[in-house]
Amino acid sequence: MKRIYLDNNSTTQVDPSVLEKMLPWFTEKFGNSASSTHAFGWEAEEACDIAREQIANALNVNTSEIIFTSGATESINIAIRGVANNSEIESPHIITLKTEHKAVIDTCEALEKNGIEVSYLNVKSNGIVDLKEIKNAIKENTILISILHANNEIGVIQPIEEIGRICKEKKIIFHVDGAQALGKIPIDLNKLNIDLFSMSAHKVYGPKGIGALFIRRKNPKIILKPIFTGGGQEKNIRPGTLPVPLIVGFGKAIKILTQNYISENAKIKKLRDQLLNGLLANIPNLIINGDIKNRLVGNLNISIPNINGEALIMRLGKISVSTGSACTSSIIAPSHVLKAIGLSDELAYATIRFGIGRFNTELDIETAIQVVSKTVDRLTKINKHIHKKEKNHELIN
Ligand SMILES: *Cc1c(COP(=O)(O)O)cnc(C)c1O
Repeated sequence: MKRIYLDNNSTTQVDPSVLEKMLPWFTEKFGNSASSTHAFGWEAEEACDIAREQIANALNVNTSEIIFTSGATESINIAIRGVANNSEIESPHIITLKTEHKAVIDTCEALEKNGIEVSYLNVKSNGIVDLKEIKNAIKENTILISILHANNEIGVIQPIEEIGRICKEKKIIFHVDGAQALGKIPIDLNKLNIDLFSMSAHKVYGPKGIGALFIRRKNPKIILKPIFTGGGQEKNIRPGTLPVPLIVGFGKAIKILTQNYISENAKIKKLRDQLLNGLLANIPNLIINGDIKNRLVGNLNISIPNINGEALIMRLGKISVSTGSACTSSIIAPSHVLKAIGLSDELAYATIRFGIGRFNTELDIETAIQVVSKTVDRLTKINKHIHKKEKNHELIN
């Protein structure tokens, strides 16, 4: 059986047309975009400018507001640390969610050690934050609110426009981790009142190792204290030689999505519905994690009661999916996101995250339904057999 990739929330395959655009920038056009004395430099700079424009256009912002980074993790660090370290308040306060990506949570935890106060807010059982929670958490010293646009585990989309309005009214800087949302839902950073927006190329069929950060330049102008020092590139916020091939690929990946995301979403949603209906027909007691309406169309996260999660995952073979556990420093722990929406450890372990993407087919989905359903059926039978044995044992005693 051929391998089937259903883990597109982790990373995506580089689109062949993205790769094709990148290739000349590794070979004959290898210049440093900062070389201002010859054509190799000029053409590299121009290529980066075009990519910057493709990204800025997709978000309805100015090209001068986009800086390139190595990915969303770095953008998030530059944004959150940059705001915190630039603050003149004695003990600044940051608000975020319990269900954020580790890049945000671990950065906030590191800042707590430096005397910065952080509130990690609860979400509702559907994974979405209650606006009242945010309003109640705001204090005199709140300098930053950081919210994940679309969750990487359960796909839910937060009410970013409403939170942006609150931030604007209270004059609090608003950072959004947009790694999952970029290119998949309409995003107008001005309309949403977002001040800082973190992005990654490898979640949108672009290459790994390139991302970007939007930094608002007016109303209000956001000033960050940089983490790195160096040669002055990217407005000195992220100095270092630009990886031109990766930047070209990122721009192309965004261009494709800007043009195609509506039809692509329709195709992916059809596959998601096929998957959900197929699984429900065979596993009627499955639990869907996260709001089913306000969510990325390609994400389906389910838990299966009374199943040994580890045994389930071990038997999925060629179906590549994610589980409800995360391996942090070699200890396996249930996902903090699933815990935050109220799942027991047992259910969190018996969880599968499907991430459907551009290159999946109906046949992939049909195969996944068969494999998962058969495995669950077998494990349920084994379970019943064990229970029966235990009962008999009780009777005998
Ligand atoms: C993937 C991801 C990140 C990290 O992005 P990298 O580019 O891999 O550093 C951060 N936040 C979310 C929501 C993600 O999905």
